[in-house]
Amino acid sequence: MQILLVEDESKVARFIRQGLEAEGYQVEIASDGAAGEMKGKTGSFDLILLDVLLPEKDGFQVLQSLRKGGVRTPVLMLTARSDTPSIVQGLDLGADDYLSKPFVFRELLARVRSLLRRENRSQILLKMADLQLNTVTHKATRNGFPIELTSREYEVLEFLLRHPATLLTRRQLAKDIWGFDFDPGTNIVDVYMSHLRKKIDYGFKKQLLHTERGKGYFLSEKASLPKLK
Ligand code: CA
Repeated sequence: MQILLVEDESKVARFIRQGLEAEGYQVEIASDGAAGEMKGKTGSFDLILLDVLLPEKDGFQVLQSLRKGGVRTPVLMLTARSDTPSIVQGLDLGADDYLSKPFVFRELLARVRSLLRRENRSQILLKMADLQLNTVTHKATRNGFPIELTSREYEVLEFLLRHPATLLTRRQLAKDIWGFDFDPGTNIVDVYMSHLRKKIDYGFKKQLLHTERGKGYFLSEKASLPKLK
C-alpha cells in the first residue's frame, strides 16, 4: 500500500512516516502543496494524507485540484483547525475523512486502515441506496432531496446507518439512543421509527426502514434480513 503524505513540518512528517512504515505501508512525503498536487496527480497512491496549512498551495486547493483532475484516491485531511466550517469545506471538495491535530497515532492508523479497506470510503457521509447522512453537518437527503430531522431523529438515523442490515431490538435502541433501560410499557422507539419512516421512506419506491414484527427494526435495501444459520 502506497501512501502520499503531504505535510510541511518535517518532524511531524517523519513521525507519521516512521509509524506507517512500521505497519508495512510505503510512504512518500511531499513537503508543500504544489509538490503534493503533482505527486497526487500521478494517481499511483492508495491513500493521500493531506495537511491543510501548507506552503505554496493549501490543502483545500490541492484537494480541489486533484478532484477536478479526476483523481479519486481517498483523502484524509489533517487539520489543526477543528472547527466545522473548515471541515465542511474539505468535505464539499471531496475529502473522505479528517483528523484534527494533535492526534494519537493509533487513531490515525485506524482511519488509514478504514479508508483503505472500505469500499464506501467516506466515514462522514453515511449512505444506503439514495439516502445520505452527513455526520458533520447533520444534513440528510434522499435522492438529493433534503430531509428535515430533529436532533433525536438524526441520532436514530445515524445509529441505523452505522448498523446496516442488522436487526436492532427496541431494547437496544432505547438503551443506545435514549440511554435508558427498556420499559415495555413505553412506545417511544416505535413513535420515533414511525416519524423517521415517514421522513426517509414516504414517497419513495424502495423502502429502507423495516419492522421485524415483535422484535425490532432494521435498515436495509432488502425487505428481509438474511436468515441466521
Ligand atoms: Ca502544516
